[in-house]
Amino acid sequence: MTTSPLLPNHLGGQWVTGTGAGTPLFDPVLGTELVRVSSAGLDLAAGFDFAREQGGAALRALSYGERAACLGAIVKVLQANRDAYDEIATANCGTTTKDSAVDIDGGIFTLGYYAKQGEALGPAHALLDGERIRMGKDPVFQTQHILSPTRGVALFINAFNFPSWGLWEKAAPALLSGVPVIVKPATATAWLTQRMVKDVIDAGILPPGALSVVCGSSAGLMDQLQPFDVVSFTGSAETARIIRSHPAVAERSVRCNIEADSLNSALLDPTATTDSESFGLLVSEVVREVTVKSGQKCTAIRRVFVPRALFDAVAQAIGAKLAKTTVGNPRNEAVRMGALVSQEQKASVIEGIAKLRTEAEVLFDGGSAALVDADASSACVSPVLLGSREPAKAKVLHELEVFGPVATLMAYDSLEQAYELIRRGEGSLVCSVYSTDPAFIAAAALELGSAHGRVHAISPDVATSHSGHGNVMPMSLHGGPGRAGGGEELGGLRALGFYHRRSAVQASSAALDALAASAVPFKV
Ligand code: NAP
Repeated sequence: MTTSPLLPNHLGGQWVTGTGAGTPLFDPVLGTELVRVSSAGLDLAAGFDFAREQGGAALRALSYGERAACLGAIVKVLQANRDAYDEIATANCGTTTKDSAVDIDGGIFTLGYYAKQGEALGPAHALLDGERIRMGKDPVFQTQHILSPTRGVALFINAFNFPSWGLWEKAAPALLSGVPVIVKPATATAWLTQRMVKDVIDAGILPPGALSVVCGSSAGLMDQLQPFDVVSFTGSAETARIIRSHPAVAERSVRCNIEADSLNSALLDPTATTDSESFGLLVSEVVREVTVKSGQKCTAIRRVFVPRALFDAVAQAIGAKLAKTTVGNPRNEAVRMGALVSQEQKASVIEGIAKLRTEAEVLFDGGSAALVDADASSACVSPVLLGSREPAKAKVLHELEVFGPVATLMAYDSLEQAYELIRRGEGSLVCSVYSTDPAFIAAAALELGSAHGRVHAISPDVATSHSGHGNVMPMSLHGGPGRAGGGEELGGLRALGFYHRRSAVQASSAALDALAASAVPFKV
């Protein structure tokens, strides 16, 4: 029997194939084996040193403007190879062309955004944080806070659901900051990440050691981290706990950003009626969030809060739209929703729905409709809408993130109760609010802001221009407090902060003038 090819890793400035048979990656619809990955036998210590020393020094020798130009060149390479990425995503992620684009084009767009932002930073090599501050009566001796790129590597440990965007949304600010990147994609969908890195390396855009990829087991990666390195993790709360308690973080103070799971909400204004535009906007957005990427988005709406009087009408409207979602093989043009990424995810989602059902009724189940060009052995799961008329009594519904095409509708009796129930998510990435009233939206944003990384308000005037509840835009903060991990990503140039170290330089005005000549004000 022939096995599929082993994808090489790029580490230490060279392509290295791991030892052993490797772990197979599958087509989640057809079940066929595609490629294999292995990180066994890699000299991680030498690879991290090479990135830290060679890659880091070469990147820091460039200015922000020059590094921004590298990002722009990466955009061109990725655009030129886009068709290949689409094919890999269809085969390995089971996504429709539209859903693959969320990942592929989302990544390219984010890179392009940082290329533009970075260009404006020009020839500088450091950032000035705020104004000079006098420290005494004599104005000659002052403090200037500066941000300088950290002299370490950025290790990215990524989740399976965004093999492209997950890489580039982190790599764009890191590379722009002058910090070399080592990415470890989630094994199930590592192929797309590996292929994109390969194309960028082959194009010779970045200095050796600036971008590395390790596919396969994560064993030993965290052990390599030293005090000036950073680690950015996206994935489950369980793995986040392991990362946080690793000696690199706990003892060596390696800076750590965590993006973990999240029970995001949608809230309908208590004054909405079945005829109001807000009602229709909420229904459309919930349907989109349940079905895009088969619900495998960390930002997807999981809990939908509506006034009790509208519970049945919202359930019916969402169910009617979900019933039109054709599920199956993404190669068939009639299919609107593809598969989950793996059999493991399918099992986890089915088990998760069963747990949610212990506290919720089934309002819609797409499972009775036939799959298109796919059979029951595929990793396809049809959309499900659950409901709870007594969400205050529920526990699991506010605790369990089911990472698939499922959301739970919940009735609320008062706004105070709705806010309280939303906060039972214990910190989420995003909450969307549906209302025609600017004053209500403003009050809701203030009420919900402290528990969410983002509050996304949809009113009729932005119905066609808003960016979507679940879409992560590079100019807005991505992250969330509490169980969402407590991390922060993106948010425009704010993202550069993670890859820089802040110092207070206390010196004479003349010395600070000299410093300012090679730096640029950090305006976010
Ligand atoms: P996961 O199982 O925690 O895996 C995430 C990454 O960690 C993978 O690359 C995995 O590698 C690696 N990993 C596993 N064990 C590790 C260890 N002991 N040490 C170091 N790395 C280790 O999560 P997932 O199932 O891929 O992702 C789904 C979850 O991610 C969901 O809960 C979702 O909400 C969350 N997510 C959050 C965001 C966000 O931005 N907040 C975005 C996307 C997803 P292997 O694949 O090789 O096991």
